[in-house]
Amino acid sequence: MTTSTSFLGLGAMGSALAATTLDAGRRVTVWNRNSDRTRDLGARGAIVADTAAKAIADSEVIVVCLFDHRSVHTVLDPVATDLSGRTVINLTTTTPEEARELAAWADAHGVTYLDGAIMAVPEMIGGPASAIFYSGTEDAYAAHRDLLDRWGTSTWFGADAGLASLYDLAMLTGMYTMFAGFLHGAAMVGTAGISATEFAARQAPFLAAMSEQLAGLAAVVDAEDYAGEGQQSLQFTDTALSALRRASTDQGVADDVLAPVHDLVRRQIAAGFGTHGTARMFEGLRSAR
Ligand code: NDP
Repeated sequence: MTTSTSFLGLGAMGSALAATTLDAGRRVTVWNRNSDRTRDLGARGAIVADTAAKAIADSEVIVVCLFDHRSVHTVLDPVATDLSGRTVINLTTTTPEEARELAAWADAHGVTYLDGAIMAVPEMIGGPASAIFYSGTEDAYAAHRDLLDRWGTSTWFGADAGLASLYDLAMLTGMYTMFAGFLHGAAMVGTAGISATEFAARQAPFLAAMSEQLAGLAAVVDAEDYAGEGQQSLQFTDTALSALRRASTDQGVADDVLAPVHDLVRRQIAAGFGTHGTARMFEGLRSAR
């Protein structure tokens, strides 16, 4: 056994992780289902394995970055015996339950498991804005910090392997709903011939300024203090969202993005909380548990 690191999966992200590891002067072995994708890294000095089993044989640490949970099992199940005694760092995006299932699978096969969630796009890997969340085996996190920190700022959330994914998907919820809200706004101004590019130039700084409100919302939620002073009431937000929806439909723009938010607000008002702060929507969301 050597001190090299093996990478299973050389898509956009796996390639970026492997390249950054190579750039750090480490010994790297790579495998990908479609061998064409190993060519560039091979030319840069990576050892190219033609099977996953050979890549695993080369290293104590196996970095997995595949498409999804299912493809992780497709690749790892046939080589479970080869993985025994090694450490798998799985950076494939999974749900928390899928991460826990993989941790249990690893445990059953004598594999040390660390789950990772990448909060970056491939171009950011190795740069100052790249962050990666980890959960699972703490010893593995501690032992391989030097490797992990090459890719971005590392944070370990706990022994429950699902925690990194939970945090990741919670963060992505904010991102995807923001993107949808932006596209909705772009469709609105587009009815007046204003380009999405011009709109983005004004929307981005506005959203950045509005993000300052998050800490205040969080304080209300954590204290469950929805009746406290100084909050924008649910009734106020209801009126605002009604106007937004009317304006949208008047312009021929679908109100699909706004409707579920408005529904959350109205459910809290119907429950008798119209004068409470808008952060009370949180109760409607968590009550679905
Ligand atoms: P790509 O689509 O570029 O690559 C997918 C990889 O999975 C390829 O190596 C592909 O192999 C492999 N793969 C897919 N299905 C199978 C299978 N059944 N058997 C074997 N190999 C398979 O995706 P990315 O590299 O961008 O993403 C990889 C992971 O990283 C994902 O879970 C993604 O969510 C996560 N991630 C990606 C980010 C991004 O911005 N790209 C950001 C944060 C996380 P082949 O080349 O043979 O098709």
